[in-house]
Amino acid sequence: MIPGAPGALLPRARGVRLGAHGDAMRLDDAIRRDGFRRWYERQLYEGHAYLVTGFLALIMMAIALEVIAFRDSAVGLVALIAIGAAGGALCVFAWRRFTVLLGRAEYVAERAVCPACRVYAKFTIEHAGDAPDTVCGCTLAVRCRSCGHGWTIA
Ligand SMILES: [Zn+2]
Repeated sequence: MIPGAPGALLPRARGVRLGAHGDAMRLDDAIRRDGFRRWYERQLYEGHAYLVTGFLALIMMAIALEVIAFRDSAVGLVALIAIGAAGGALCVFAWRRFTVLLGRAEYVAERAVCPACRVYAKFTIEHAGDAPDTVCGCTLAVRCRSCGHGWTIA
């Protein structure tokens, strides 16, 4: 993707993510705590964990739908339909989380290059503000640790 391109087609993230322990954490707090590279790496791991979860849910749904035809009782049929529906819902949820996490991670990564010296991911967050209409859900005023140039990631 081209840096600076409009991100209107990317999923929105609302600036909040669930941390490793299930707690809500803002994007700027997560990057400040772990550093950008580690945050990005965790986003990739978490996103791909959702992808695997969605794929397994899809298999679960397909197996449930396959077995439904051989069930005789109504209770068994209802249970299998519920399993199939739950697998489908989990698959959709996991796919949406995967696309949101990776979309946001790539969006921020494309803007993590210093415009002045082209150093990647070496910046300090000076200020963060809420911007719910942006892809990352906030604006980050950052400063390059190599040359001191400041720019905004939004
Ligand atoms: Zn720089």
